[in-house]
Parts: sequence; C-alpha cells; structure tokens
Amino acid sequence: MRFADLAEALERIEATTKRLEMRAILVSLLRPLRGSELSTVVYLAQGMLRPEYEGVELGVAESLARRAISDATHRPVEAIARHAKESGDLGTTTEEMLRGVRRLAPPAELSVEEVYGRLLALARTTGEGSQEAKVRELAALLERTGPREGKFLVRFVVGMLRVGVREMGILDALAVAFADGSKEARLRIEAAFNLTSDLGEVAERMADGGVAALDGIRLRVGRPIRPMLAERAADLAELLERMDGVCALEYKYDGLRVQAHVPPDGPPRLFSRRLEEIGAQFPDLLEAIPRALARRPAILEGECVPIDPTTGAIRPFQEIGRRRGRKHELDRYQSEVPVVLFVFDLLLDGEEETYRRPFPERREALGSVLRPSERIRLAEETIVRSVEEASEYFEAVVGEGAEGIVAKSLAPGSAYRAGARGFWWIKYKRDYQTELADSIDGVIVGGFHGRGRRAGRFGAYLLAVYDPSSGRFPSFCKVGSGLDDALLAELPKRLEAAAVDARPAAVETGLVPDQWFRPQVVLEVRGAELSRSPNHRAGYGSVGPELGLALRFPRCTGRIREDKGPTEATSVAELLRLFELQTSVRSKSVGHHAVGAPKSPPAPSEDPPA
Ligand code: ATP
Repeated sequence: MRFADLAEALERIEATTKRLEMRAILVSLLRPLRGSELSTVVYLAQGMLRPEYEGVELGVAESLARRAISDATHRPVEAIARHAKESGDLGTTTEEMLRGVRRLAPPAELSVEEVYGRLLALARTTGEGSQEAKVRELAALLERTGPREGKFLVRFVVGMLRVGVREMGILDALAVAFADGSKEARLRIEAAFNLTSDLGEVAERMADGGVAALDGIRLRVGRPIRPMLAERAADLAELLERMDGVCALEYKYDGLRVQAHVPPDGPPRLFSRRLEEIGAQFPDLLEAIPRALARRPAILEGECVPIDPTTGAIRPFQEIGRRRGRKHELDRYQSEVPVVLFVFDLLLDGEEETYRRPFPERREALGSVLRPSERIRLAEETIVRSVEEASEYFEAVVGEGAEGIVAKSLAPGSAYRAGARGFWWIKYKRDYQTELADSIDGVIVGGFHGRGRRAGRFGAYLLAVYDPSSGRFPSFCKVGSGLDDALLAELPKRLEAAAVDARPAAVETGLVPDQWFRPQVVLEVRGAELSRSPNHRAGYGSVGPELGLALRFPRCTGRIREDKGPTEATSVAELLRLFELQTSVRSKSVGHHAVGAPKSPPAPSEDPPA
C-alpha cells in the first residue's frame, strides 16, 4: 500500500465525526490487506508503531521535528515555529510548508512498509548522536513526501496522532471487514484484544480466518493481558445480592497492581495496570517470584505493597513511588522500603490456561502452585454467605487499616474476564460511609494560576474523566485543595510536555483554564458528592438538560496515578454509576436514618477559587 493512500484515509477519518462513516473508511482501508501489511496499517492508524505495551516511542521532540522540516523545505526554523504557534499543529504547518516546495521531479512514492520500517529504525536509534540522526532521517523522509503525507508523518513522530483512530474504532471496523459485523462478533474481537493487548495480531488472525481464528489465541508469557476490573456496590446488601448470596471477600490491598509473567526459565517480567514493564523497579520481586512457584511457566496477578521492615506492617502506598526511576538507589530502597506481593489470581499454570476456569478453581490452583514466602504471599480471603458475615469481615479488615474489600463471584461463569469491569468482582471501600463511594482518577486538562501563597504557579487544576465510546475527555471538577507543596512543585514538571496553546479537541468543558494540557497525567481525587453542573461536561445530557456532573468539594489525595494513562482514568460510565450509587444510598438513609448518606456540604460551591 502507498503511504499516500493511508494519509488520504486518515484525513477523511479526521474530517468526519460520524462513527459509521469513520468505520466505512477504515473498512475499505483494512479489508484488502493481509499479514504484516495489515498489522502495520492498524498500528499506524492509531499513531503507534508496535502494540502499546512494548513501549516503542518515536521520541522526536517538536524542536527536532522543526529542524527536519526546515531542512526538507528550505525554510528557516523560526518561520516554522511561528507558523506552528499560529496553526497549533506542527503537522498542518508541515503540510503548508511542503506545498511551497518546488521539486525538479516528483519524488518516488513511499510505501507504508518503507515508512514503517524507517520509523521503527528511527525509534530504536538511541545514544550519542541519535538526535542528529533522527533529524536527518526525518528530513530525508519528508523530502520524498507530498504535503498531506508530510502532515501525518510529522504527527506520527511527535506523537500527536494518539488521538487519531481509537482502539474502539479499529475494533468496530474489524468486525465489519473480516466478520459479519454483528454485536457478537464485536464482543469476541474485543475479548481477543483484551487477551493479546495487540490489535495488529487480532487483525492478522481475522483476515486469515474470521472470528473463528480468534479461538486459537493462546496466552503468551511476556505479552500482558488487560486486567480484569471491579464494579462498585451501594452497600454490602447489594453486593451480596449481586453475588447470588455467596462470594469470596478479599482484603483490598492499596498498592500497585502487578501482572507477573514467569517464563520456563530466566527472570519474570512484571507489568503494571496499564501494561507498562515495571520489573526494573522491583529486583527483589524478580528474584522472589520464581522461588515461590512450584511450577512454571506461570502468569499471576497480585498487588504489590510496601511494608515496614521491622514490624512487617503494610505501609502507605506512596512509599513505593520512591522506587520509581532511581535505578542507582534501588538497593537502598529495597531494604528501606521492601515490598510484598499479595497474589490474588492465576491466569496461566504450566501449559494450562487457568484464566478460563471459574474463580474458585483458579484460587485452588493458585494455592497449589504458590509456596508463600516473606515477599510473596497469598491475598487474604474468606467465603461469606450473609450480610452479617460480610460486614464482620469488612469491619475487621478496615480496622486493620485496609482500604476496603474486593468481593469475587464463585459462580460457574466467574472466569477471568480480561479488560472487563463487571460484577464478578465488586470493590467496596471504607470511605463510602462518609463520602462518595470511591476516589476518582481524573485526567488533568487545564491549570489555573494560583493566588496568594500559590502565586506564580498553578493553584488548581481542571480534571476530566474519559469516555471510551467517543474518545473524549469531559471535565468534572476543578481541584485546588489537597495539593501540598511537593505536588504543586511536581505537577508542572510532569505536565510540561503536555502544555498546549488551545483547548485540545478531545477535551470538553464549560470552563476556561489559564493553561490547557493534553490529557496525559492522572490525579486521584476524592469529594463530598456528585452534583449537576452547567460548567462541567461529564455525563452531559444524561443527568439533565445542558448539565454535566461535578464533584463537590474535591480534594486531591496526593496521589498521581502513574499506573494509569489517560484512557485508564475513571470513565464517564463509572462516574454515572457513582452518581446513581450516591442517590440510592441517600434515599435509603432518608428512610431509615442509617449511616451511609454522603455528608451534605454547607455551601453549594463545586469550584473553589485557586
Ligand atoms: P482503585 O483505584 O480502587 O484501586 P482501580 O481503578 O485501579 O481501582 P479496580 O478494578 O476498579 O481498579 O479496583 C480493583 C483494584 O484493586 C485492582 O486493580 C487492584 O489493583 C486492587 N486490588 C487490591 N487487592 C485486590 C484483590 N484482593 N483482588 C483484586 N484486586 C485487588
């Protein structure tokens, strides 16, 4: 396929907001393709080179890209920078600049494969002189592209295309291109993606044998599985009802979710909740996990928490953060902040894909394969059959300092559902009794200048949730409280690369912050309750005419969710669910004067001044 054809399709997709039209363009783009050409186009359409978990980034800064554009178009770097500031998009600027270039002969056409191969090589160029090499290579590519291709090429390399075609769009298109387009096919494709975390592989298989070919997918050690997620319940009675009267209750450890892939020999690989490889931070776990296993290969899941080296008590989650990115100090942290992995699931046990089995069988297999040690333990669990038993366990673990519990279904259908948030797992947290049932992980999309003590920096941030069906980020609060000095200093550093001059197209809000940010950094907040607001856009239209949901009295918990990317932030559906839970708890408490009503805050202020 010519690269020009891909660029043309991407441009048409960009120009439409209609889901069906977008799908039709993608279907005609993908349908004729097979093998690696197909997976290549699937990755590129999403602005990626490899499945996300491989972490292959092009890593070309805008400043370098400007130099490459300058070399290829013979225009001064300053003119390019000026134009880009006005257009707000270096891709558009490239297109304009390339339009003005006169060539003696039309450039030889680039194929998708050639562009892909060269971009991959570019991404893998590291070390001394690599920046110069990247500028040269990008300029060489631009010299051979027309304006439209140049626009997309530059967007690829500076990482702007992430907002291009989303996973959901590709899944929709695959269901039509290589299956009957039915809802059932769509669900099977999504399940296959959740298991492989690789849309390229899913597409290639489907092109060969339709949805049936997806049944042949096997777990592969080293390829992370999208984690199963938990729903919420209003109270323990609802929780038990959803579980048909009996379930396992587990301690909800507040740490970092870890998926450990243990090959037949050699060290394991550890993946975070967002499928990033995190083994380097935990050399102690890399050593301890294989020793705690009676058999391998294996894929396990657990929560990694810091513990006090003298008392063995669980320490606050934040202490793990100290291990991040400080390779040379890891030894010291290993003794100062040792961690324990509390294992709660087994997805692969030797040759057997245990993830397909109901939870009680997985748990039993886990018991037989795991030889608990100082560092690797089994998550604590009990089986309950009544609200009284559940309440007793909940009070006991919360009394010990747990964040809450995770209930797990024992039903025959309780297989591990990769990537799904459902009622097979229900989380129920301590703070539910005093305020909103759960914390919310919001993406920072704007900053407000501070006043007084916070003058000269951002004093508050605008947060958004994620809507997977539209790919948009509607706002739900402006948070200033709970940001301590350390966080006020840290956040601007993390946000530097995300700062943009205008509201990113995917962000929806009625507020205008002093600085816009591309959705990138995820912050955990709590609040008193959710209310309807004309300023915010989360759940817009679902809670009243021209109203969205706003979090009242938001405060930051002090935690940056490094384990979550923007698309793993709390979703609009989850926010609506929290709103519904809050209403049901409140109506019950009005009737029975029971505990559980969110405290009514005194003043109707949802957006405190910065
Ligand atoms: P939260 O912010 O509440 O931890 P989350 O969005 O990261 O939630 P959820 O699936 O909603 O993820 O909640 C379950 C999370 O709880 C898991 O992702 C996992 O990290 C953590 N956890 C702690 N203990 C357990 C356990 N025993 N079983 C399953 N998950 C557990």
